[in-house]
Amino acid sequence: MSTQRLVLATRNRHKVTELRAILTEAGLDVELVGADAYPDIPDVRETGVTFAENALLKAHALARATGHPAVADDSGLCVDVLGGAPGIFSARWAGRHGDDKANLDLLLAQLSDIAAPHRGAHFACAAALALPDGTEHVVEGRLEGTLRTTPSGTSGFGYDPILQPHGDTRTCAELTPAEKNAISHRGHAFRALAPVVKQFLG
Ligand code: IMP
Repeated sequence: MSTQRLVLATRNRHKVTELRAILTEAGLDVELVGADAYPDIPDVRETGVTFAENALLKAHALARATGHPAVADDSGLCVDVLGGAPGIFSARWAGRHGDDKANLDLLLAQLSDIAAPHRGAHFACAAALALPDGTEHVVEGRLEGTLRTTPSGTSGFGYDPILQPHGDTRTCAELTPAEKNAISHRGHAFRALAPVVKQFLG
């Protein structure tokens, strides 16, 4: 029997590598490919209002278009004092999609009067599995921490330089990729999804 193909809704090779390692650890023998393997399939508009809705939208669209089971994730930063914002707007908080520096600078300015005890925040990630027949499952993962007043560190992306995970003295941008994957919202969500993938595909 040939190995079952699983498609991950991302063009980010690091995400594919991270999920592949987690699935292998879970004892799953699947051929994991990124959306790059299907260049003609257009990206899905993220019209959902929660991380879970957006992850499910992307996973269902890819499963339908490819005829293979698909996994998608959606994530962002949720700040306590902002009632969970930027949340699903994390990538375009300052107005332009993907302008990490502008997003981070705007958030720091908004929080400039907020003292340390009230600077709680978490990264959240929803990871969804969809099958071509419409079956679905979604899980969530979190990385809890506090927000610094100035950025620190050069690795990672997005809001990594200002989120200091609970129990650490460094920001996410000062962790090695392996350290970050071990505690990250995405790592938690992918590890929670692995047994579900195994149940449905194994
Ligand atoms: P995506 O759903 O992975 O594309 O993430 C959306 C946005 O959330 C990114 O553009 C970042 O601004 C933010 N974000 C998500 N995950 C992380 C992370 O691990 N570190 C820093 N920022 C993140």
